Amino acid sequence: MHIGFIGLGNMGAPMAHNLLKAGHQLSVFDLNAAAVDNLVGAGALPVDSPTAIAQGNAELIITMLPAAPHVKSVYLGENGLIASARAGVMLIDCSTIDPHSAREVAKAAAEHGNPMLDAPVSGGTGGAAAGTLTFMVGGSDADFDRAQPILAAMGKNIVHCGAAGNGQVAKVANNMLLGISMIGVAEAMALGVALGMDAKTLAGVINTSSGRCWSSDTYNPFPGVLDNVPASRGYSGGFGSDLMLKDLGLATEAAKQVRQPVILGALAQQLYQSFSAQGHGGLDFSAIINQYRKDT
Ligand code: NAD
Repeated sequence: MHIGFIGLGNMGAPMAHNLLKAGHQLSVFDLNAAAVDNLVGAGALPVDSPTAIAQGNAELIITMLPAAPHVKSVYLGENGLIASARAGVMLIDCSTIDPHSAREVAKAAAEHGNPMLDAPVSGGTGGAAAGTLTFMVGGSDADFDRAQPILAAMGKNIVHCGAAGNGQVAKVANNMLLGISMIGVAEAMALGVALGMDAKTLAGVINTSSGRCWSSDTYNPFPGVLDNVPASRGYSGGFGSDLMLKDLGLATEAAKQVRQPVILGALAQQLYQSFSAQGHGGLDFSAIINQYRKDT
């Protein structure tokens, strides 16, 4: 299939590479010329604007952009995708944005005759490179069925979450819980160590007891407990604290729109905001444990 791909950053570039590997033809655009060159080297065709992608031969267009303002500008702008796409061309936004914006863009696409899915991902840059991402998809049954084989070239779990915007709903709910659980594990690990316990032994107890969760058994924030996690390499790589702050902001903002209390989510947002203000936004989000440890 001929696919248009816009947004070739840390996530978009490996996703686009996997589409090429699966035999699809790709037209690509990014504001960053070096990102485009990288894909052109692997066989993609460079295009100089979203309009040019929309007016080309692509049967489906995928976007992977930083945040809602970028998504709105690429889709709803004067020279954006929706203004220029041929009717029937399917649009899939994989960026993480708030559900309200996702529904606004999907509605505009539908009015223009373009089926649209929101399909944010989980799995990070490692999952993007390995083609093992989880896609949380919002949109109609028929559009989901049509997109499924394409998404399967980039991911392992493709989950239909319901109507437009529901992919983003699943993403913000999951990531809010992840932020809260990481802070909980950081607090418990720091307490146990401050009270004299060995970190590895404590993690072993938690991971076979009722406190166990992904943040404790797969991504423990205490250095030395697990190999090959950011905590054991100075909190480099992984999922940046500023990205977690962004997702917690999406969750609290979405909650406000439906008057739904998210008390721990808001507290987690403030903790990450304070951490970011201290200059640590580039560290992996498990580094939040440094707010608790007396020895750091
Ligand atoms: P990134 O900043 O590395 O890449 C974004 C790309 O979009 C950049 O190459 C940028 O030049 C391009 N871009 C920005 N505005 C553009 C425009 N108007 N037209 C064309 N290109 C434009 O970000 P990323 O890490 O790839 O993340 C993308 C999305 O995926 C974000 O919404 C993020 O929250 C989400 N996400 C990221 C991760 C992760 O681990 N990095 C994991 C899951 C989800």
